[in-house]
Amino acid sequence: MTKNPILRFSKLALLFLSAFNFAQAQQIFSTNKYPITDFRQPLDITPPALAGSFGEIRGNHFHSGIDFRTNQREGYPVYAVADGYISRLRVQNSGFGQALYINHPNGFTTVYGHLQRFAPKIATVVKNLEYEKKSFEIDEFPDATLIPVHKGEVIAWSGNRGSSGGPHLHFEIRDTKTEETINPQFFGIIIPDNIPPVIHGLYVYHLNGKTFNEFTPKQAIAITGASGGYKTTAPISLTGEVGFGIVVTDTHNGLSGTNGVYSIQLELDGKKIYTSALERFAFEDSKAINAHIDYPAYINTKRSIQKSFVDPGNPLKIYSSLVNSGRINFNDGATHQLRYIITDSKGNTSVLPFTVNAGSAAVAVPTVPPGIIYPYNKINEFNNEEIKLVFPMGTLYNDLNFSYKKLPKPAGNAWSSVHQIHNRYTPLHIGFDLWIKADNLPENLRSKALIVSTGGSSQGGSFDSGFVKATPKNFGSYYIAIDTIAPRIVPVNIGEGRNMAGLSKITFKISDNLSGIKNFNGYIDGKWVLMEFDAKTATLWHNFDERTSSGKHSLELVVTDMKENTRRYRVNFSR
Ligand SMILES: [Zn+2]
Repeated sequence: MTKNPILRFSKLALLFLSAFNFAQAQQIFSTNKYPITDFRQPLDITPPALAGSFGEIRGNHFHSGIDFRTNQREGYPVYAVADGYISRLRVQNSGFGQALYINHPNGFTTVYGHLQRFAPKIATVVKNLEYEKKSFEIDEFPDATLIPVHKGEVIAWSGNRGSSGGPHLHFEIRDTKTEETINPQFFGIIIPDNIPPVIHGLYVYHLNGKTFNEFTPKQAIAITGASGGYKTTAPISLTGEVGFGIVVTDTHNGLSGTNGVYSIQLELDGKKIYTSALERFAFEDSKAINAHIDYPAYINTKRSIQKSFVDPGNPLKIYSSLVNSGRINFNDGATHQLRYIITDSKGNTSVLPFTVNAGSAAVAVPTVPPGIIYPYNKINEFNNEEIKLVFPMGTLYNDLNFSYKKLPKPAGNAWSSVHQIHNRYTPLHIGFDLWIKADNLPENLRSKALIVSTGGSSQGGSFDSGFVKATPKNFGSYYIAIDTIAPRIVPVNIGEGRNMAGLSKITFKISDNLSGIKNFNGYIDGKWVLMEFDAKTATLWHNFDERTSSGKHSLELVVTDMKENTRRYRVNFSR
């Protein structure tokens, strides 16, 4: 995506503008729904800057919080934003890595992710739980009395753990009861920003009463402009039913990256016909981002075009003032004025007005290849001798013109034909049930069978009366393979008889060829010890503590994959 030239404005100019902007922001977000004085900032880096905004478009989800920049470094103190108690302790191989949740008396929960380490009193509780459960990954819900915290208390230090692309603090505010996540900028968390959103592109979709899919004819409209004001280079001539789509990003002051906008509004002749606004959303709806955007375009080009018409099976509650789901009929031969209004979470606005000259001729409807129609609001099934598919209610966002093809069994590790199940341009909200018939799979290998995509990614699965069953989350081409190969263990800083004195930890790299790592366990002198894991770097380590005295010791590491193939590594060392 192109870099925003406004980024090159001097810092002085931005400071000059910020006083004016502050007043404007207060106006936009004045609402009685949320307390605006209860919460302080979770970091004391000033001015705060965001590397990621609430609701910005990510792969398969809307960003559920805001990402505070931490100057490319770890180790900034993270503060409880208000009084409350630690209501959830979570350690994961990926995801948030190490995260804390605080319940506050005002009915909201704050979440702090990718933490480097916890404050001592919390770290002790976490480590005791890990030893008690003999597991690095934990997800515990302590009651209100175990770890109370006060506003401004240091609860952790910022980090880069879990699936984080660089040091930052991920911060969320959730409704404690519903667990819906809410834009933190509604709570008086002020992020300096007086830069309006950037409009990168405008598209027309010729829908003509049809379902949106990869065959929908699409037209890019040239636009020009900057600094909040945009226009098309000429009026647009359109006939028939269309929908519009727009490519927009936002930037905040300082060293902020490219973030998402808060709202998109489309007006037709002065009347709102579509609004999307990222005030709050439910996690179960987040994957519907693939229905919010032009998913086929995203798959082909990675460009996120936000559609201004809503698919019938899209469960997101971010839409309002919809007229005919955002679809517009241009058939009256008249001239129409349209206008996009885009705002960021501080209320900075960009507008794109444009004129449409409507035709009145009949419209040729696009032809689509023949298939089987699966309604989006029904349970749909497909069967033949070698395959069975069930699409539960809520899988599809649109009616689907389903296609299927059987392809030959590949050479090598394959125990069925390849089944091409529709195509990758149609997004699914939840997984579907898939049974593939096994072809001459020996009985002793049945427990090792799983379903893989032709791209080589495991979908998991297990053998069940002649078939292997899995629940893929995407359409694609699938077949049965087996995993009989144990995970790989590569010692990084340990070897037989090595003296580890002066080293703070033992480090390994671990990986699996196909089904993925299910668990790992380390034992020193036969006793379970905590091994910590970071999935993104495949790094596994044990931090020495008072449990390992100086002298001679033995270490055993056992790593098992999802198909119960186990690798053991044994070594003697001293420290
Ligand atoms: Zn984040």
